[in-house]
Parts: sequence; structure tokens; C-alpha cells
Amino acid sequence: MAFSLDSVLRDNIKKVKPYSSARDEYKGTEGIFLDANENPYGSVTEKQVNRYPDPLQRDVKAALAELKNIPAEHIFLGNGSDEPIDLLIRATCEPGRDSVLILPPTYGMYEVSAGINDIEIIAVPLTKEYDLNVEAILAAVKSNTKILFICSPNNPTGNVMSEDRVKTILTAFSGIVVVDEAYIDFADTKGFVPLLNQYPNLVVLQTFSKAWGMAALRLGTAFASKEIVAVLNKIKPPYNINLLTQECALEALKNVSAKDKMVRQILEQRNWLRTELSKLPVCLELYPSDANFILMRTPDGKKVYDFLVEHTVITRDRSKIILCEGCIRITIGTEQENKRLLEVLKKF
Ligand SMILES: *Cc1c(COP(=O)(O)O)cnc(C)c1O
Repeated sequence: MAFSLDSVLRDNIKKVKPYSSARDEYKGTEGIFLDANENPYGSVTEKQVNRYPDPLQRDVKAALAELKNIPAEHIFLGNGSDEPIDLLIRATCEPGRDSVLILPPTYGMYEVSAGINDIEIIAVPLTKEYDLNVEAILAAVKSNTKILFICSPNNPTGNVMSEDRVKTILTAFSGIVVVDEAYIDFADTKGFVPLLNQYPNLVVLQTFSKAWGMAALRLGTAFASKEIVAVLNKIKPPYNINLLTQECALEALKNVSAKDKMVRQILEQRNWLRTELSKLPVCLELYPSDANFILMRTPDGKKVYDFLVEHTVITRDRSKIILCEGCIRITIGTEQENKRLLEVLKKF
């Protein structure tokens, strides 16, 4: 089935005329700016933030475009990945009428965002190997299913989804396929950004929250067709990315090698931690990880989690989640942190 953006967009979204900000109307940088009701004297803080920021974050996008080897018109920036997730749902799903498809066990925000927007959730579990069950997914799609969320590497299981299966779904599904690549820097694959031109219904999400070490910034990236990016830009709050975030992201993008170095350190720790965890009696199973965390099956996830908390080591209890019975999710820490984790687990 061919994809047509027009047929997945809500009618009201097609009709919306975006808010035209002062910064949109006059694009120059020189002059006396009496157009936006800002304070001309400056800010009370040392850092001057009295002027509204660039609504389209041109400098950040130019740097990202170069890094990702993709034109800037294919890039949307959001207040965390959470914002494009919500905007995509609101652009395409009619409250009380439409549905989205999720693949548990997976990231919780898709369901929360759909729930807030009164959108039905169709859940098709992953296979036992935590890969896509293509047949079941395509059978579960309804005529009102607008978005399919694929998380790869998946949270909380840690694995990359089979590329061929994702491609099959991209071709067979006539709605939008979101591939959430929050952890792609930790995986041994380029992910789906290089394939954007082949799939008009593809949206790839990435974030500055994990590999870049900038979770407090709240900066998420959506890569998609120019047309989808234009829709997101039309319906976003005008100044969704604040000045400090834009400046900080630009600084980071000038130092990609520092990010890569941290990623290498984390991967080293991941390999070492796997080996050590696998020697412990509490470890019943370790799942392969393409991310900066490891999912570990234990005899009793809640008990292990509580025991670790008592010793001030905090992990994530995932044992109540489908296909994750007994499991805790462990973020890879520093060498010292990981050693402490192992010490405590040895006592369990
Ligand atoms: C952590 C995470 C994100 C990041 O969300 P932000 O809002 O960008 O911080 C997105 N998707 C998944 C699957 C995650 O685990």
C-alpha cells in the first residue's frame, strides 16, 4: 500500500495556519528590535536571555545536517523525543477514533502519549527473541491505525530489531512508522537515517539524552521527509527549543569525538560487566545488548531490585512487564559504579 501523507493527517491539522512569530516575519539579525515585546535592557542574570531564540534552530540543524549527512529540511528538533512523539500522534490521530500500534515490551512514552490524546493502543508483543513479529503486526493493523512505533535498539530489552523486518513493515504499512533510535550510538549499525529517501512514511527519532550525555537539555531529533518535518514545524510551539539548549547543542556538535570517546568507554564497560554478571548465581540470563544498559533475568526481579536499593544501587525493576519476568534493567555506569553493583549482587 502506497503512503500518502495527506491521507494520514487529520483534517484540522491540514487547515491550521501556524502562529507567525516576530522572529518568523523579520529574519534579519541587524536592527532595533521593537517587534517582540522583549525587555531591551537585558536579563537580571549574568547570562543574557532577553531575546526569543531562533524558532527553527538553524545553526543546530546545520551542524546536525553535516554530522548525519542529510539536508537540514529533513530534521526536526523537539523538547526531548517526547515532543515529536506527541506531535506525530496529534498530527495524525483523531481522538476517540484512531489507533497506534506498539510492540511491548517497549518504551512507555508511546502509550502514555497516545492515552493523553485519547488514542486507542493496539499492542502486539515482540517474539521470544524480542524481535518483530511481522505477521502478527500486519494482521493487527486496522484501517484507523496511523502510527506504528518500533524501538531499535529496544528499551528495555536492548536489542536492535532485524533490519529486514523493519523494511517489510515500512513497505507494507500505509501509516507512519516511527523508528526510535535513542540508543543507536551504542549499536553496531548506522540505523535508518541513511534510508530516509527510500521510505516516505519513515520517521527516525534520536536524542541528546543518552550517548551525548545531555539528558537535562531536553533535546530530541526527528529525521523524516521534508513534508513530515514541515507538518511538525507547523504545529510545534513556536519557541520549543530554548536558547541555552541550542547553544549547548551547538557546542556539543563541535566535539563529536568526545561523545564517541564516552561511547567507547561505555561499550568497554558493557562488555566487562556482561562477563562479570554472567558469573553470578543471581544471573539466570543476560540478554544481548546494543544499548547502554543490560537486561538481566534473575530468580525474583523485585527482590533483587529491593536488595540493590537497600545498598543504594538503583536499577530498574522490569519484572512485571510482558516477556520480562524476573528481569531488571541495569544502566552501564562508570567502572567504579559497576564494581559496586557487582559487589552487592554477589551478596544477594
Ligand atoms: C531515553 C529514551 C528516549 C529519550 O527521550 P528524551 O525525551 O529525548 O529524553 C527516547 N526513546 C527511548 C526508547 C528511550 O529509552
